[in-house]
Amino acid sequence: MAPFFRGVTIKNILFFIKNTKKTGGIWMKYIVSRKNKYNMAELRFSALRDAFNRSPVAVEPPSRRVSEYFGANVFDMNKMERYLSKEAFKIVKNAIEEGKSLSIEEANQVAIGLKAWALEMGATHYTHWFHPLTDVTAEKHDGFIDMGAGGKMIEEFSGKLLVQAEPDASSFPSGGIRNTFEARGYTIWDVSSPVFIVGSTLCIPTIFISYTGEALDYKTPLLKALYELDKAAVDVCQYFDKDITKVYPTLGAEQEYFLIDEALYYARPDIAQCERTLMGHQAAKDQQLSDHYFGSIPERVKAYIEDFETEAYKLGIPVKTRHNEVAPNQFECAPLFEEVNLAVDHNQLLMDIMRRTARKHKFRILFHEKPFAGINGSGKHNNWSLATNTGVNLLSPGVNPKTNLQFLTFLVNVIKIVNDNNDLIRASVMNATNSYRLGSHEAPPAIVSVFLGSYLTSILEDIVEKVTDKKLTPELKTDIKLGIGKIPKVLLDNTDRNRTSPFAFTGNRFEFRMVGSSANCSSAMIILNAALAYQLKQFKSEVDGIIEKGMSKDDAIFQTLKKYIIESRRVLFEGDGYSKEWQKEAAKRKLTSNPSVPESLKAYLTPRARKVLTTVGVLSEKEIESRVEVEYEKFTKKVQIESRILADIAMNHIVPIGIKYMTSLIENVKGINDIYEGNECEKLSSISKSMIIEIADHISNVERMVNDMVEERKKANVMESTYDKAIAYEKNVKPYLDSIRYHIDKLELIVDNEIWPLPKYRELLFIR
Ligand code: ADP
Ligand code: MG
Repeated sequence: MAPFFRGVTIKNILFFIKNTKKTGGIWMKYIVSRKNKYNMAELRFSALRDAFNRSPVAVEPPSRRVSEYFGANVFDMNKMERYLSKEAFKIVKNAIEEGKSLSIEEANQVAIGLKAWALEMGATHYTHWFHPLTDVTAEKHDGFIDMGAGGKMIEEFSGKLLVQAEPDASSFPSGGIRNTFEARGYTIWDVSSPVFIVGSTLCIPTIFISYTGEALDYKTPLLKALYELDKAAVDVCQYFDKDITKVYPTLGAEQEYFLIDEALYYARPDIAQCERTLMGHQAAKDQQLSDHYFGSIPERVKAYIEDFETEAYKLGIPVKTRHNEVAPNQFECAPLFEEVNLAVDHNQLLMDIMRRTARKHKFRILFHEKPFAGINGSGKHNNWSLATNTGVNLLSPGVNPKTNLQFLTFLVNVIKIVNDNNDLIRASVMNATNSYRLGSHEAPPAIVSVFLGSYLTSILEDIVEKVTDKKLTPELKTDIKLGIGKIPKVLLDNTDRNRTSPFAFTGNRFEFRMVGSSANCSSAMIILNAALAYQLKQFKSEVDGIIEKGMSKDDAIFQTLKKYIIESRRVLFEGDGYSKEWQKEAAKRKLTSNPSVPESLKAYLTPRARKVLTTVGVLSEKEIESRVEVEYEKFTKKVQIESRILADIAMNHIVPIGIKYMTSLIENVKGINDIYEGNECEKLSSISKSMIIEIADHISNVERMVNDMVEERKKANVMESTYDKAIAYEKNVKPYLDSIRYHIDKLELIVDNEIWPLPKYRELLFIR
């Protein structure tokens, strides 16, 4: 009918209305056909057809040898050496090594070479690229163009533009730091993370601070934490090895994600708007046969993965591992580990590449921690360790007793931070989306404990048993050192993995598994590295104190380690982290489990947390408070959005369809009544009748609960304090998401499949 209506004007509409007799039929038919076209069930089926008919979009990489094009789009050391003057290269190299910033004159020199490279690469724009306190990175592109002499257009790029910009910060979350009259923020080049090109834009990694100097991003405190940790760790290393002059934490972030077909994504308003299904009955078969985990990667997905990996390689991101994860449609991508700041930038960039490349392959990627109820969620395990300028991994058992004492020192200090900052560590990963995952049966529990493996546990107990506050006898020393000396060999055989532990030692690193798949790793990395910096300073001063009293260095170290082990015993747990017994046991040990999100976040505000963060100089009191404000607000808004979407879908999609099906059943009963009588009539109509009651029951529950939920939102929305509001959303609004869903999922089981408006789990979760 469309051609008939092309060029419809008011005049001919009036004509139709006037001549309804003649034209009314066509008019109505048109409306009905249009309506059918946008009917949600129709959309569901057409989406399914689209999804089934797709084939892989194969993309050839520039070369089969990654080494030939790895880092092609990065202004790395090699390119700096090539494009910068000798002088400028030396300046940047020093700045990177010493963590210094550049003066404008120095930056001007760098900008000349950088511009030459960027233009050669076909870049037309540049942007400062930063990590505001949202879930994504930010960029604002500016062209290189400028008006030259005589009105001639030229490409211009100066040192000033490279090192600093002043974006309007007013629309980024600041938690009350930023006044509207001081809305300006500054972005300042982070020399330690290389500049790169995406598409035709030169991207300059920067920090982002307010006009008054407070951090408005993740990178600023992260860089401070890494800097402080370096200093504190080097001081401790001096006990063991005078050659160690630099310690840099390393991070390998395993990124889990879900893929769904683009057409199906659009047919689900909940996924399209909050990356998670707010309803959907579990599929009869999903992950119970474990036939997806490590299974062969579907062709369409493989083509997609190869494509984003190629893009990642061009940007110098060393992605290495790919595999199917446990849940259907779930996958993982793991890179080689790198220095933390670079690894964080690379993870953020990788997520961006993965998102954009997905569109090319008619997929949508879901980084949400729990897109589907009842099957596994996604995390981003943060593998974290400490490397030195001498090429040593401080969390890797060494080759002799001396290096092993160094290893044990760092190991025990890490355990101590988990004990002393237990709630703070959880707070660093707690948010609305991750709260759906933590504590589920397949995900780390919300109780933060450390898994060491039986051998290391026994070594620590040995120290507790044998070390006293007196000088160690030579025999005991040899005995303990012999035990320690055996570590490497046994550990290699013993890398048993307790998958239920949120913070597990895995042979040469800790694996912090509570981090959510959508998170910026900085949040966790700021806390872990700052807490360790604080802790290592304590350790150094305690050990020095004992040495001053006349003890040997080894004795002082052993005594301090013993004290820490005893103090931290409560966080050591080797058993099943998912079990009920652990919940009980953890409560006895005064470890918090399953707190609400806003309650968890309060851990940032305790005197202890404030002391750690401000003493190390990572965040000021004001910055801590503003960050927590931002988190409360983010939490409230996310629950609010989900609640609104659920109410909308429930009332506008589900209830009408339920009524429609119920009406058809009523018609059916009426028809039976017309034809049959007595017992026979009763028997034939009984099925429909009981279904009518069941449907009516679910519908009325949905309707009542949606109204109640909206009322709770209204009450919460007028609350002044952001904490109270977040708590109200957590306690009074969020529970409705589950209870309303329950009735919708029941309806999904009863209502005629032909008219059900949303793609079902069994349809969403199987990529051909
Ligand atoms: P699994 O899934 O079995 O834990 P993966 O191979 O998926 O293992 O991921 C392990 C991650 O740990 C990788 O990103 C790897 O680079 C990282 N990793 C290994 N050694 C270190 C280290 N010393 N510091 C930080 N990360 C590390
Ligand atoms: Mg892995």
